[in-house]
Amino acid sequence: MLSMMSESEAPAVLYRQPAPNVARMYDYLLDGKDNYAVDQEAADRLIKLVPDLRNQVRNNREFLRRGVEALAQRGVRRFLDLGSGLPTQENVHQVVHRIAPEAQVVYVDMDRVAATHGHALLASNDGLVRMVEADVRETAALLQHPDVAALRPSTEPAEPIAVSAVALLHFMPEPQRILDSFREWLPVGSYLMLSHATPGTMSSEAVQEALEVYERAGMRMYLRSPEEIADLFAGFELLDEGVAPVSRWGLTEVVVPTPTPTGGHFLGGIAVLRHR
Ligand code: SAM
Repeated sequence: MLSMMSESEAPAVLYRQPAPNVARMYDYLLDGKDNYAVDQEAADRLIKLVPDLRNQVRNNREFLRRGVEALAQRGVRRFLDLGSGLPTQENVHQVVHRIAPEAQVVYVDMDRVAATHGHALLASNDGLVRMVEADVRETAALLQHPDVAALRPSTEPAEPIAVSAVALLHFMPEPQRILDSFREWLPVGSYLMLSHATPGTMSSEAVQEALEVYERAGMRMYLRSPEEIADLFAGFELLDEGVAPVSRWGLTEVVVPTPTPTGGHFLGGIAVLRHR
């Protein structure tokens, strides 16, 4: 039927370019293959504003790997990875299972493509790894999802859980409300791991342009200062590394010191819930 229509007769929507998408833009920045020309163009606009963005994104991913590894070495066996993105290399379950093959990992992303790829990738993990398609902002509903609730059975003593929100909360207008709900839900001894974009020395025009790129991808972005990012850990106790550029976090034996990033970059940290 379609082939018999001229372009002018066909519904306009069929000829509309797909919009860029944050999960696929991030995939492109990581040299992944699950992205389209619109995602590449949007990400290239960001690279013009933050020339070492690819490096920053790789550092962010490496921070996730180092952090998860550190938590597994501390004995954590339950992981909830919020805004997990499209599966790539060194996903949380792969890092954790090298240390503890029995660990449970639940991924959450609201992006349909990320969730579909996640389901396909995880099919062969003996039920230890789950993918939940959900919006983290709807926190109460998310915590009642059976796969998420299963991480926190009511039996005592409750095992610690690591919640990661890596490169996620800068898409949230009220991250503290979400984090408060997780803090209430988590057993004492649990961990919060997060990274967040900060503007560094970017000009206000460059920040505005970057926000517009994300807006076109359907996401409002909230770049926050180092102080605001540190405040996100309220109620938790930061590990010794504190909040640091992700390129440095947890690297105690740095052979060549990494310079402090100047343009837009990610800050990250891990904190423990000592008490309520
Ligand atoms: N955490 C991964 C990492 O750091 O490598 C991926 C980060 S990617 C920049 C952000 C991801 O968060 C995207 O996959 C996006 O779909 C997801 N996301 C954004 N807002 C979300 C929300 N409200 N609920 C669930 N996922 C969300």
